[in-house]
Amino acid sequence: MIRCINTPAEANALTLTAISATGTKPNSSCASELSDLKLGSPISRDLALRLIRCGNDDLPALLAAARAAKENFKPGVITYSRKVFLPLTNLCRDYCGYCTFRRDPGEPGAHTMTPDEVLTVARAGEKLGCTEALFSLGDKPELLFPEMRDTLRHLGYKSTLHYLEAMCELVLRETSLLPHPNPGLLSAEWIARLAAVSPSMGLMLETANSALLAPGAAHDNAPDKVPAKRLRTIEEAGKQRVPFTTGLLIGIGETLEDRVDTLLAIRDLHDHYGHIQEVIVQNFRAKPTIPMANSPEPSQGEMLRTVAVARLLMPNANIQAPPNLNAPYYEELLDAGINDWGGISPLTLDYINPERPWPHLEQLRLRTESKGFQLRQRLPVYPEFMSTVMSSPGLLAEKLETVRDSQGLARETRAA
Ligand code: SF4
Repeated sequence: MIRCINTPAEANALTLTAISATGTKPNSSCASELSDLKLGSPISRDLALRLIRCGNDDLPALLAAARAAKENFKPGVITYSRKVFLPLTNLCRDYCGYCTFRRDPGEPGAHTMTPDEVLTVARAGEKLGCTEALFSLGDKPELLFPEMRDTLRHLGYKSTLHYLEAMCELVLRETSLLPHPNPGLLSAEWIARLAAVSPSMGLMLETANSALLAPGAAHDNAPDKVPAKRLRTIEEAGKQRVPFTTGLLIGIGETLEDRVDTLLAIRDLHDHYGHIQEVIVQNFRAKPTIPMANSPEPSQGEMLRTVAVARLLMPNANIQAPPNLNAPYYEELLDAGINDWGGISPLTLDYINPERPWPHLEQLRLRTESKGFQLRQRLPVYPEFMSTVMSSPGLLAEKLETVRDSQGLARETRAA
């Protein structure tokens, strides 16, 4: 899914800019406040709002503070998860304006994987040292499409979630991979059911701003993108102590204030339940086939400010940014305080951003090391959340025991 920046337009989109997404003039008086920051203490909303708008003069100080916070949290190491990507079904009842993944039934490329296909990909990944089976899928397609109901009936399942549960169990039972499902909104019952067959799961909050549901906006005709519903799913996972990955998507029509408030909504849930294992800062990339084809992409400067502010708002959280959506600017993301590259596949495409190939793992290792970090392979569940999962005896705990090392990272079977 990742691709090098080839065109002047792309290069321009990634150029550092002093002007925010909303055209706000940068605030140029942040440096002194940054020097007073206490390592490990989260910053306030007020400071975050000023930092996310900081001018280019203050940007080096912001990045330095973010990197110091990262080093205080997890010194010397950057992690990634070696995964296979399993697009269980790309049928989806939502129509997000930035999505290239979803299809309607009958559209070219519309597909629901069979159990054989799932196992074939998982086993191929196993041979390449993968430890994560990332299940990505559209949200409840059977509610909108009779064709999906027929497919599920043919496969022998009542719903997409029943099928997902069975495929997670299949992968868990038949391979050494650990499932990490991203199925969209979930009820309390389904969180519990999926948690029995996967050590972690995910749902991007994307934005806390419900204005993006308005006609013509990014989440128009996307009923599963109501922020309150997504927050409820994340909260329910917290009540059940399920290690949870979430994050924000920047550049989909939100304001800088929205970005801070989305991060704060995630922080509030984590403060309450302690279950947010990873916060992803993902940047919108325009593609010719999407409704938002002509929407401006966030600049590199916006991305770096958002990542750095995320780090300072949650200094002790795992912060991730996808390298394929920011290539070739890996070093800059490290400077902004990430401690994880997310899931990277040596085998499968990033089906959400298929035009942007994953970085070669050896290249990623060399570039990570050139910034003074060791690159380590992790499991889909982060080390600090593993004991919660392993406290319930069963297949999941047994599998984790066989694939983790003494630090809770992946027992590496081959060099990246
Ligand atoms: S982003 Fe997810 S929910 Fe939105 S249309 Fe694409 S697959 Fe569906």
